Amino acid sequence: MADRSLRGMRLGAQSLQSEEGVVFSDRTRFVYLCPECNHETALMFAADAEAPETWECRHCGHEAVLMVGSEPITIDKSDQKQARTHWDMLLERRSREELEELLEERLSFLRERRGLNKKVGA
Ligand SMILES: [Zn+2]
Repeated sequence: MADRSLRGMRLGAQSLQSEEGVVFSDRTRFVYLCPECNHETALMFAADAEAPETWECRHCGHEAVLMVGSEPITIDKSDQKQARTHWDMLLERRSREELEELLEERLSFLRERRGLNKKVGA
């Protein structure tokens, strides 16, 4: 019994030691500040990796915001809504009526190409 627990400790100590030799090269430390609890979460990313703008707060689980210097970055709210689709972008540029018109144009063009407009023609 005593022998066993000793062995267990020895194994644990060894696995801790093995991390000492690891060289953390080319890594950058990023700090995320949680607006909810003011807790700072520090993370290491590879130097060439782009750090995400937000990270889950390790303290309360809210969304912590990446700090640049002593200020949290400003997050463009428009990027926060779900990824914009082509359709969303279209709607930003054109009204629905315009789109319907375009669609109609496009459809009649396609019908013409297929020679269907003769039959469909109203
Ligand atoms: Zn927090």
